[in-house]
Amino acid sequence: MSQAVERSFVGGRYLANGDGQCFDVVNPGTGEVIYQVETADEAVLEQAMASARAGFALWSAMTPVERSRILLKAVALLREHNDELAAIEVADTGKPWQEASVVDVETGADSIEFFAGLAAGIEGNHQQVGDDFYYTRREPLGICAGIGAWNYPLQIACWKAAPALACGNVMIFKPSEETPRGALKLAEIFMEAGMPAGVFNVVQGDAQVGQWLTRHPDIAKVSFTGEVETGQKVMRDAASSLKEVTMELGGKSPLIIFDDADLDQAVSAAMLANFYTQGEICTNGTRVFVHDSIKQPFLNKLLERIGNNMVVGDPMNPETNFGALISANHQQQVLNYIQNGLDEGATLLCGGRSLSPEAVPGGFFVAPTVFSDCDDTMTICREEIFGPVMSVLSFDDEQEVIARANASGYGLAAGVFTRDITRAHRVISRIEAGICWINAYGASPAQMPVGGYKLSGIGRENGLATLNHYTQLKAVYVGMAPLESPF
Ligand code: NAD
Repeated sequence: MSQAVERSFVGGRYLANGDGQCFDVVNPGTGEVIYQVETADEAVLEQAMASARAGFALWSAMTPVERSRILLKAVALLREHNDELAAIEVADTGKPWQEASVVDVETGADSIEFFAGLAAGIEGNHQQVGDDFYYTRREPLGICAGIGAWNYPLQIACWKAAPALACGNVMIFKPSEETPRGALKLAEIFMEAGMPAGVFNVVQGDAQVGQWLTRHPDIAKVSFTGEVETGQKVMRDAASSLKEVTMELGGKSPLIIFDDADLDQAVSAAMLANFYTQGEICTNGTRVFVHDSIKQPFLNKLLERIGNNMVVGDPMNPETNFGALISANHQQQVLNYIQNGLDEGATLLCGGRSLSPEAVPGGFFVAPTVFSDCDDTMTICREEIFGPVMSVLSFDDEQEVIARANASGYGLAAGVFTRDITRAHRVISRIEAGICWINAYGASPAQMPVGGYKLSGIGRENGLATLNHYTQLKAVYVGMAPLESPF
């Protein structure tokens, strides 16, 4: 069967490579190759740089309001094409349609809308120094590279493009080689919205293409989403030309459930924090600390709801609420972690194995898995699994649980469930994490800054704070009096 071949999107059009070198993209829900993608070769990459330079000259000369209007048109187009785009995300990632059709495109569009609204408000300041004065200008950085992970391909492309473009920069985006289509659709939509060619280019490939970007001296900034180890490599490469970097990396986040928590809500949070997008979310609360006195009722409710409410199957079936992992390789890694949990003495309460649903037997499914009797030293409680594996730990003291929650090299997210509002804020103020939730989990509106403490990242995405990561400050001193000089 002949398959479509995707390419890089450069200078406003699809651009073929010179040697025809391709890689396969597999639908994780079925295990079948669904299309191929041409790897960007040197000529494609050079052309992406040339078109980005030309695009920057045009885009940065436009007024912020003009840029904003184009971005808002793109927002409308994203929403108009929601279902088509969501279907692409489902086929590329294996996540359920039930999620992608209401979250992935929508949260991407929201971020572009938010930054489009801010574009015209970016301003410097002024200060008088005697008769002289100085003022500051917030100027774009130039050509920014965006490098994405595979769990939210279109959303990640939107979250990176939105602040970059609103501030007058241009972007060369490299999607994950496992999920290359969403960013291409975004590029098409930007063109349809009237964006000049070269403002948003997409180059296809793996680590090598990523490295080419992060090492290029003419790229001013890299915004990266992925694993900590890859982020460290990206920073090392970016250091060669002292690029600005934003890093959205992994996590091993705590979800702390106190004895006065609303138990149903806490169970909902634990399930969302471990099984949404089949556990492939960076902010997942995979260390679920439950107060000793409510541990058993918590586990009873949790297991009952997993048994009754989780529907594993064809990700495109609207009934399915739990999809497939990204690849056979990742599925095996998750199963290895589960074996590790068993070997190190955790008690498996449910799941713990791969699944082959009748409708899609070739998909890369792992059953929703819960371990109890965990302790902090176990591998499953220390390392990011990025799959549907929940570790339940117990505690009986507030100070103790704060210390244990913070005893991780990661610091991406955290959640606290309690009805005691003073305790909620006291605990959160001492938690070492960039994204925190009280009696909630996972919500991330465009206006809320997201990013990690410690090994989980540098810089922020979304929120006002991100404008500073995509602009540089020029201070201009103006002499009004005759210049004094000792020479
Ligand atoms: P990954 O680090 O393997 O790859 C991420 C991207 O980097 C891919 O596009 C890949 O091709 C590219 N890449 C790989 N090596 C590179 C190199 N040397 N130089 C430049 N680019 C390179 O991550 P992944 O497996 O795609 O994604 C899963 C990880 O992403 C998890 O750790 C997860 O926690 C993290 N993540 C974090 C956030 C966040 O916002 N904090 C969001 C989503 C995912």
